[in-house]
Amino acid sequence: MIAVLKNTATDSQIQSIVDWIRSVGLDVHISRGEYQTVLGLIGDTAKIDGDLLAGLEVVESVTRISEPFKSANRKFHPDDTIVHVGDTSVGGDIFTFIAGPCSVESEEQLIGIAREVKRLGATMLRGGAFKPRTSPYDFQGLKAEGIDLLVEAKKETGLPIVTEIMNANHLPLFEDVDVIQVGARNMQNFELLKELGKTRKPILLKRGLANTMKEWLMSAEYIMAGGNENVILCERGIRTFETYTRNTLDLSAVSVLKELTHLPVIVDPSHATGVARYVKPMAYAAAACGAAGLMIEVHNDPKHALCDGPQSLTPEQFGEVAQGVARILEVARA
Ligand code: PEP
Ligand code: MN
Repeated sequence: MIAVLKNTATDSQIQSIVDWIRSVGLDVHISRGEYQTVLGLIGDTAKIDGDLLAGLEVVESVTRISEPFKSANRKFHPDDTIVHVGDTSVGGDIFTFIAGPCSVESEEQLIGIAREVKRLGATMLRGGAFKPRTSPYDFQGLKAEGIDLLVEAKKETGLPIVTEIMNANHLPLFEDVDVIQVGARNMQNFELLKELGKTRKPILLKRGLANTMKEWLMSAEYIMAGGNENVILCERGIRTFETYTRNTLDLSAVSVLKELTHLPVIVDPSHATGVARYVKPMAYAAAACGAAGLMIEVHNDPKHALCDGPQSLTPEQFGEVAQGVARILEVARA
């Protein structure tokens, strides 16, 4: 981190900033020019609040030259992380296909969809048991019973299961869940992230509705700081002024994050677009730009789905996407 001081800074003001920086455990390199003094902060600059420094009267500007995320940073961990989930993995050679309904609705619905998506190429089964709905009057999910049904579907098909947690108190219910999802609305629920950091379960961390990549990586950092390195990032679209799609799919995040972090990044074109017919082209684009996998909502009867029917694919449509993606990967990964 570099702080440029105003040319009006007096010796005692400079000394007082330097003392403050040293008091938090950082070293300071002082460069006095004819017109300006520049301070180079050396050490773990996460210990200092850059905004606080920038706000001091004698400071003209502050530039961060190292990112505040350490565990997630590719600089300190050049090799891609592979997150192992049962017999499969995310981030290695296998392209991950997480498919299933938005919400677990019944045994018949879930097991039926699980069998179909497995046959058609899914590597994991998704299904929401605790649903973060915008309206409290909408279906809130089957909760513990939904998780039991997911576990049953896993026994039937062998597919690892992915489901969302909304409250750390529910963790005991997630014992047999293979991947715990943190939804967009909870990306910055730091207390939840800290609790998940104490587990060793793979965590699928969705991007917040209006969060920058840096904030997203800092949330991953919360989990990793607790010792849980099994983090999978999921781009699911961000809020913009556009209304033809539910969100705006930020595919550039896949390329940017590949540089910034060693964590695998998957894409959810269902929540990104909100429209079933846009899922296939966006899934293809995600595969082409290097995503480690996809999360796609699939329902046996989208018209009657209790949640997110308009963006849900039928199993047949999912099968088409899976086949098309395989062809794209032949080129993209060649
Ligand atoms: C979901 O995957 O069911 C979900 C609620 O997604 P998001 O958190 O991305 O809105
Ligand atoms: Mn959904």
